Amino acid sequence: MPYTYDDQNIFAKILRGEIPCTKVLETDHALAFTDIAPKAPHHVLVIPKGPYVCHDHFALDASDAEIADFTRAIGKVCAQLGITPGADGAGYRLISNAGSDGVQEVPHLHVHILAGRNIGPMVMAAS
Ligand code: AMP
Repeated sequence: MPYTYDDQNIFAKILRGEIPCTKVLETDHALAFTDIAPKAPHHVLVIPKGPYVCHDHFALDASDAEIADFTRAIGKVCAQLGITPGADGAGYRLISNAGSDGVQEVPHLHVHILAGRNIGPMVMAAS
């Protein structure tokens, strides 16, 4: 089943400039901004500018240029924050939630970059 993109989601409004964000980086096809409720000293969201609901939607329908730009934007933000292990940074975690089991709140693809402390166990133990 194809995805239906809801253009009233909060990140679509940020992209249209209808609500503000604290911008970290902007590229041709991506925008990075700080999370409004940070879970770590560094908590940045990176989103594609195109109307993609989640990662598999993006992987299926985005152009190679969009995918390359988005992937590189994540790397650029990590470098900008000084958290890349390759440059003696302390590292980071990338998270991209999708759908109900993934507990995705905002239906516009986003990658969370979390850093600045030990981020802890990958997921809660199964109950
Ligand atoms: P997810 O659960 O993966 O969909 O995460 C959505 C994230 O968006 C949460 O971490 C929220 O804190 C964040 N968020 C929601 N509204 C805003 C906003 N206006 N500006 C920045 N981050 C937001």
